[in-house]
Formats: sequence, structure tokens, C-alpha cells
Amino acid sequence: MDLLFLGTSAGTPTKARNVSATAVLDGQGSGWYLVDCGEATQHQLLHTSLSVRDLRAIFITHVHGDHCFGLPGLLASAGMSGRRAPLDVILPAALHEWVRLGLAVSESHLPFELRLMAVEDFQRWSTADIQVEAVQLSHRVPSRGYVFSEVKPEPRLDTARLDADGVPRGPLWGQLARGVAVEHDGRLIDPQPYLCASRATRRVIVCGDNDQPALLAEVARNADVLVHEATFTQPLIERTGASFGHSSAEKVAAFAQAAGVRNLVLTHFSARYQNDPRRSPQHRRHPPGGPLALRRSADPGAGPATLPPGP
Ligand SMILES: [Zn+2]
Repeated sequence: MDLLFLGTSAGTPTKARNVSATAVLDGQGSGWYLVDCGEATQHQLLHTSLSVRDLRAIFITHVHGDHCFGLPGLLASAGMSGRRAPLDVILPAALHEWVRLGLAVSESHLPFELRLMAVEDFQRWSTADIQVEAVQLSHRVPSRGYVFSEVKPEPRLDTARLDADGVPRGPLWGQLARGVAVEHDGRLIDPQPYLCASRATRRVIVCGDNDQPALLAEVARNADVLVHEATFTQPLIERTGASFGHSSAEKVAAFAQAAGVRNLVLTHFSARYQNDPRRSPQHRRHPPGGPLALRRSADPGAGPATLPPGP
């Protein structure tokens, strides 16, 4: 899995950073997923190699505009770019009518099926490669994080089981290895029971706004990557006495280290941090330990942040 940061600014965009959007690329290189879609996310995509045709699903963390105002435009452009495959969008129920009405009154008729799913009822979203679950966070409005887990990464055939079940070697095995169901002796053989992971699965968590990192304690334990907001620095929160439902870099880093998160990526920095590096989260101390990354938005030529190999 790879991550590509399309927007790392909180609340409002800056000249250098757009508002929230993070792309999660699957390990097979065949598709990607979008977490949050701030205004002009589609402009940021133009600086990457990602295509809306390969977009598998969109996950919105909460109703605030810096996380969703880019949705109608991106959907309309996806239609104009020739997308025909249905698109699942998991988002708060309160946004459903807004999306539908925005598309309807602007006469934006999508040539693909738009499947809006309420995050309030969300259990799990999955494909053969990946499964996504949600975790409840704490913010001024209901907010969530999305947990992406690989399913049987780089699958290999369980040859012993195939032999035991009498499935003959040859082309049938080749098809099963590619995940294709085959027919043998008049029965249909599902490939899944014969595929096993060739390495440990990886888990990546991409969070919405959150002022209580401890809510992630269970899902973050030994996660490969935690992407979390760090809107303010701790001294600023202490000086003003207000966090507006956000976390500081120091608070998140301390949590991530205690939880054994292998890689912490901070994002969603207040727009105030653009011109004064002395007040930037980069300059806050963080506990020694695991790798820490602070993200810039995508820029032309910047590659995805490739994850280290799993354990
Ligand atoms: Zn928010």
C-alpha cells in the first residue's frame, strides 16, 4: 500500500497546501481509495498519475467543508472523463442530500452509478485485496477514521490443499492463482480457499479530525501507519486554552509511540503554519522512537510515500 497526500491544510487552503484529501493506493497498483475530498482535490489529482477511473471508493471522515467540498466537482469530472463503473461513497448521512442536490441543480448527470452509503450504518467495505472499517473519533461533530487492511497480500496457491482436493495441476491452477473461479468435474471451484497470504498483512489508518487519539488505542496497536491530524502545537493549545476539537503534534506522537505504531504521519496543519517555520509542528519535540513523517501536499513529480515492507 502507498499513500499520497493531496491536501494537508486544516480549514482553509494555503498557496502551498490544499485542504484535506489522502489517496490510499492498493499494493497491486490496480486501484486507489480517497479519504476526504476537500475543495479542489480534483486539481491536486492533476499533479499525480492517479485517474478517477481507477478510484475504487471514497471515504469522508466528517461533515466539515474542508473535508468534503470537493466532492461534487470531482464526481462531475469523473463522469466527463468517461468513468462508467459504479462508485461507492461512504459519508455522513447528513451529506447525502447535499451531494445529490448539488449534482441535480447543476444538471450534472453522472454516467455511472453513485452509491452513497451512510457512515453511521457502515460496518465494512471490502474487495478481494483490501477491507476498510471505521473507528469513531472525537471532534466538534461526529468524526471517523478509516482502517485499511490488506486481505491476503501477494497471494500464493495452497498447493497441498489443491492436491488433497484432487484439483489437477496445469491451467486450472494458473487461473486459481489469478483469483479466477474454475470448473472441474462439474463443480465450480472458488479460488479464495486455495489462496494464502505470502507475507503479513499491513494496516493503514487514515483519521479525520480528532482530539482524543486514545480512541484509536485498539486499532492502532502495531499498525503499520497512522495518519493523524496535528492541527496545532501543544503550546498554542495551552496558551489559548482551546483546541476546537483538534490534536497537537505532541499529543499524537506520545500516543503513537505508546501504541507501538510503526510509522506516524502527521497532517492537517493549521493554515497559520505556512510562513513562520518557528511555529511549525516540524519544530515541536516528539518522543524518540518510531519514524515520524510530516506531509506536504502532492506536487508535480512527487512520488507516493511508499510504505516500508511489512514485518
Ligand atoms: Zn473538522
